[in-house]
Amino acid sequence: MKQRKILFVDHTAVMGGAELSLLDLATAYANTSKVLLFEDGILRQRLEQAGVKVSIIPASDTMLKLRTSGGLSSLATIPELWRMAARITKEATGYELIVANSQKAFITSALATLQGSPPVLWHLRDILTAKHFSPINRLVAVFLANRFATQVLVNSQATGQAFVVAGGKEKLYRVIYNGFDSQRFDTVNRQDIMQFRAQLGIDDDVPVVGLFSRLSYWKGQHILLEAVKELPQVQVILVGEALFGEQDYVSELKLLAAIPELAGRVHWLGFRDDIPTLMKSCDIVVHTSTEPEPFGRVIVEGQLAQKPVIASAAGGALELIIDGKTGLLFPPQDILALRQLIKRLIDDRTLAQSIAQQGYDSAKNNFALETILKDFAEAIAF
Ligand code: UDP
Repeated sequence: MKQRKILFVDHTAVMGGAELSLLDLATAYANTSKVLLFEDGILRQRLEQAGVKVSIIPASDTMLKLRTSGGLSSLATIPELWRMAARITKEATGYELIVANSQKAFITSALATLQGSPPVLWHLRDILTAKHFSPINRLVAVFLANRFATQVLVNSQATGQAFVVAGGKEKLYRVIYNGFDSQRFDTVNRQDIMQFRAQLGIDDDVPVVGLFSRLSYWKGQHILLEAVKELPQVQVILVGEALFGEQDYVSELKLLAAIPELAGRVHWLGFRDDIPTLMKSCDIVVHTSTEPEPFGRVIVEGQLAQKPVIASAAGGALELIIDGKTGLLFPPQDILALRQLIKRLIDDRTLAQSIAQQGYDSAKNNFALETILKDFAEAIAF
C-alpha cells in the first residue's frame, strides 16, 4: 500500500501515553510525513532520533496550559487558535491529511480546514467525561468533530462510546488500539533485572509491585500505597513523574510513603525510558486509575513483560483484561480488593504464572505494533 503523506499534529512535547503512541505511528510514516508540535521538548528529540521530520509552531503559555476542564475562559483563546490554524494550513502544504493527536491539536486543525488545509482526522485518546472536560470544551470539540472530522480514531471502545454519549456521531468513530513491539520486552536480559533489584537493595525472594504512571491523583498511586500498608513484605516501585503540574499530589504521596508502615518500602524512580527492564523486575504490575482509563498502555506492557497485571475495572482496561485469565480486575478505588488480589498473587505462584502467561499471549496476539499499523493504514486509506 502506498504510504500516505500525513501531517501529525500534537500540542504537547511531553511524553505521555498519547505521545508514545504517536511516536510509533509517525516513525512508521517517517518517509512521507511530518509532525507538527506546539512546543519544543523531549518528544521532538525522540521523533528526530527515529528519523521523523518535526516542525514547531510555538503556542502561548495560556493556550498550552489551558485546562480541558476549564470553562468559558477557554473562549479567550479563539483569536490565537485562528492564527495557529493559519500556520497549520501553511505547514500542511503538500500533505494529504492531518492526524490530530490531542484535543487542542484537533480544534486548531479543524479550524485549519476552513482555511484550505487537507482533511483532518482526530485521533481521540481521551474519555470525554465531565471529570476531565468541561461542558463547553466537550461541546466545541464534539461539534467540530461532527462537522469537520473525516473520521475520529479512538483508542478503545470505551473512548468511542464516551464520544457518542458526548454527542459525537457513532458512524464517525473507529477503534485503533495502541500497538506494542514485544521485542523490547522479550530481549530484556536477566543480568539487568538482577542489577536493578540489587541497586534498590531488594532480595530475589521479596515481592515487588510496580506502578508505571505519571504521578497524578486520578492515576491512583495513593490507592496502591494504602493497599500495601498492611502487606509488610511488599516493596513498591513508583515509575513516572508529575507531567502536568500536580505537585500538591506528589507532596501528599511523599507524606503517605513516609508513615512508619510504609517507610523504606516505596522506591521513587521518576520518569524512565527502560520500562521493559523495570516491569520485568517486578512480581506484579498494577494499574490503579480512579477514573476510566481511555486505553491503559501500562496494562499491555505489564502483560508483555510476562507479569500478572491487576487493573482497576473501568474504561479501556475492560478491553485489555479478561478477569481471572489475562489479568485481575478490581473495582476502582477499592483498596481492600486491591490488597486481597496482591496477596492472592503472592500466595499463589501457580495462579500468578498462569495469568502472566495468558496475559502475554493476549497482548502479543491483539496488540502487536505491526497489526495496529495495518489497522491504521486501512483507516486512513479513504
Ligand atoms: N511511561 C514511561 N516512563 C515512565 C512512566 C510511564 O515511558 O516513567 C510510559 C508507560 O510505559 C506507558 C505510558 O508512559 O507507555 C503511559 O501510558 P498510559 O496509557 O498508561 O497512560 P497515559 O499517560 O496515556 O495517561
